[in-house]
Amino acid sequence: MANALVWLRRDLRLHDNPALAQAMADGFAPVLVYVHAPQEQGDWAPGAASRTWLHHSLSALQQDVARLGGRLLIAKGQSLPELERIQALSQAEALYFSNLYEPILQARDAQVQNAFEKRGLPVKRFNANLLFEPWQIKTGGGTPYRVFTPFWRNASAQLRVLSAFPAPNRLPDCGLEGLSVDALGLLPKNNWHAGFWHDWQPGEAGAAEMLEIFCDSAIDGYKEQRNLPDRTGTSKLSPHLHFGEISPQQIWRRIADVKLPESGQADIGHFKSELGWREFSYHLLHHFPKSSDHNLNPQFERFSWAAPDSDLLDRWQRGHTGIPIIDAGMRELWQTGWMHNRVRMIVASFLCKNLRMHWLHGARWFWDTLLDADLANNSQGWQWTAGTGCDAAPYFRIFNPVTQSERFDPQARYIKRWVPELSALPVPVVFAPWTKPAAAAALAPDYPASPIVDLAASRAGALAAYSSR
Ligand SMILES: Cc1cc2nc3c(=O)[nH]c(=O)nc-3n(C[C@H](O)[C@H](O)[C@H](O)COP(=O)(O)OP(=O)(O)OC[C@H]3O[C@@H](n4cnc5c(N)ncnc54)[C@H](O)[C@@H]3O)c2cc1C
Repeated sequence: MANALVWLRRDLRLHDNPALAQAMADGFAPVLVYVHAPQEQGDWAPGAASRTWLHHSLSALQQDVARLGGRLLIAKGQSLPELERIQALSQAEALYFSNLYEPILQARDAQVQNAFEKRGLPVKRFNANLLFEPWQIKTGGGTPYRVFTPFWRNASAQLRVLSAFPAPNRLPDCGLEGLSVDALGLLPKNNWHAGFWHDWQPGEAGAAEMLEIFCDSAIDGYKEQRNLPDRTGTSKLSPHLHFGEISPQQIWRRIADVKLPESGQADIGHFKSELGWREFSYHLLHHFPKSSDHNLNPQFERFSWAAPDSDLLDRWQRGHTGIPIIDAGMRELWQTGWMHNRVRMIVASFLCKNLRMHWLHGARWFWDTLLDADLANNSQGWQWTAGTGCDAAPYFRIFNPVTQSERFDPQARYIKRWVPELSALPVPVVFAPWTKPAAAAALAPDYPASPIVDLAASRAGALAAYSSR
């Protein structure tokens, strides 16, 4: 049986993997290859948290492949020469892979495809990780969408749930020697990530389990619960989706089987629309390839962002701003590699509006510390919150972190979990301890006495800067 390379990248799964399934259906023995080439991602090479996930995800995949008798070949360097080297060694006659959508990687993939095809080696490419290719959904005029609601209305009307691509029962052993996962040096020297793995199990089995847990619990009530950061009210599938350990089609098929009362249809619809936001992020990044680094709304190129202040930025990053909900979110991120979506919006708004720092400062920190760091979602999340994007939430809509915490963490359980120095302060003082300095000094002596910025004055300053841009 002839060999074909199956180049795995962010489709780190054996089930519902179109590249692998098609190579086998075409009668090839698949040679599974992962090439570590972070430098090919330019300024957005995977951050520290993401690398730790990748380490564990590759290890899990290696074991899954070995259990079926096969071997995951790991290489590092430049993708094209590594693939050519392995092709020569294995005498592979074709190349199969699934698409990535970061502009710099699309260019790299086109180069790889051309080089193989020029040598007469057929290349087949697939969509493994999105419901739609980012270029598929268009307005009536053939232009890209800039606003989510009409995008999703159009997309969901076109959505077809596909049957799963079959998973292999056995895999051939290509007999070639690759690198170990350890040789990629993905884990940091310090133990900062040790606490992550109480909550997460990278790999395909962990993703499937997370989906089951969600379908058995949080999906019921998702529409309301998803905004409450003190509980697991969301799926926590984001890192699994980023690395392609599960596909959105698999999720779609599974939630179709969830039995909820009539009222639960709104929960399912809302969850689907969050997956729709993911599609929309990829649509935007594809059509506006500079949006990872530049404002989608060009008017903001002239905006008077504050000069970067490393002390303020450091206090935001470490969760020492003196504003409880901000500090809780930033510490949750540092300690678990994840942050609740509502709190992501609050901390991002605070950075871009109250501190008036360019959203890229925040996007870079998230990039390094989020396990689910994803260029499309992160850029879109930051631009949306900063108000520099082309969708809703304009700049003058500024989240008030105190009222947000009163509304979404009314018993301050989330705040007290992540900022234990505040655990003796009662509600509502705990939302804004500086308003009751005597109580704060007595009951939370280790917490900053005042916030790093006056919320009302900084809000007014942001609005003034906005109107004079
Ligand atoms: C400033 C900011 C930065 C963000 N950075 C990232 C990032 O780097 N990577 C990332 O995956 N998400 C990012 N998000 C989106 C969102 O916060 C996370 O996807 C979500 O919190 C993940 O938790 P979950 O899997 O439990 O979500 P669920 O509520 O269970 O949603 C299911 C899936 O839908 C997708 N999704 C949900 N919300 C959004 C959204 N607003 N935009 C795009 N996709 C969404 C995710 O893939 C998620 O796993 C960011 C949001 C903000 C405001």
